[in-house]
Amino acid sequence: MKDNIKLLSTTSPKKWPVLVAEDEPVSQRMVAKNLQDWGFDPIVAADGEKALKVLLRKNIPLVLLDWMMPGLSGPELAQHIREMDQKKKKYTYIILVTARDKIQDISAGFAAGVDDYITKPFHPLELKARLQAGLRIISLERQLLNYQKKLEKLATTDSLLRVKTRRQILAELNAELARAEREHQNVGLILVDIDHFKKINDSYGHPAGDKVLKKVANLLKKNIRRYDRIGRYGGDELIIILPNCGLAEVARIGQRLCQAIARLKIQLENNIVLQVTLSGGATSSEAFTRASPQILINTCDKALYEAKAKGRNQIIIFPQSQKPRAGVSND
Ligand code: GH3
Ligand code: MG
Repeated sequence: MKDNIKLLSTTSPKKWPVLVAEDEPVSQRMVAKNLQDWGFDPIVAADGEKALKVLLRKNIPLVLLDWMMPGLSGPELAQHIREMDQKKKKYTYIILVTARDKIQDISAGFAAGVDDYITKPFHPLELKARLQAGLRIISLERQLLNYQKKLEKLATTDSLLRVKTRRQILAELNAELARAEREHQNVGLILVDIDHFKKINDSYGHPAGDKVLKKVANLLKKNIRRYDRIGRYGGDELIIILPNCGLAEVARIGQRLCQAIARLKIQLENNIVLQVTLSGGATSSEAFTRASPQILINTCDKALYEAKAKGRNQIIIFPQSQKPRAGVSND
């Protein structure tokens, strides 16, 4: 009965794995053979505990559970799968296979968390139809998860600069500081602002200003490590989180970024080539006994103000000397 399942072929060309938790060898072989013929990839587990181990290791969207198995019964296993699904933020479609057909049994099976059931003995076509119904649900779930991911990306990304939004970068700074505190690490922070950016808008127009902003953000992105994060703080201000960086590293990285931007040549229409510079303020949680996002940002802000006042095209680090008292920079 060769008949490949085409339902999900547009989203995934691979065979869909199906876990068969069944202790009876003849049923195991029969179901596995049918699944193969229909284009699935059957994975057989001889009891409930083995099935649970497989499910913990592998991401299997469809499960056929025999009710009576040594160790964990089908409904018990279904309860474990539902707990696991919650932790892993995914959904497993569970079909209970059982000789029990009393309404109380069926009701108990659903209460344990199964999606469907099939009573033994069954015709292979019925199993196939129920698996196809399960695939429709799983395919819908995957589509929804994909949309959710895309929406999350849209909501957390600045549409012009393709860096994180202010809200997102601040949330990540908060999380990063909490992680750093747990792991006794530092977090560096740099706030940069393009020098005399208004003049670019005024002289060459807003689209030229947009282009300059994009080029600057792209070059900064290219020049930071994979696990650093960059976001738009506002207008022409960008903020960079540097995990595991003390003041010395922040100073080194800040200087490197500043120099890279100063070398950047931005080509506009009519053969106009622009060069811009950055001013920045930077600090690290290393300098504070209890660093908060607000303390770090305020510190960077003051340092940035000083960088502008001192003639721009430079990064100023606060504090510049010995460690300050709790929560206070020694600027
Ligand atoms: P400074 O050296 O003191 O930073 O001077 P500046 O001219 O850069 O002044 P400031 O940073 O205060 O001005 C930022 C300007 O950026 C003001 C605003 O019109 C412009 N701006 C903000 N967002 C955008 C944007 O998305 N696109 C463009 N083209 N301009 C923007
Ligand atoms: Mg500016």
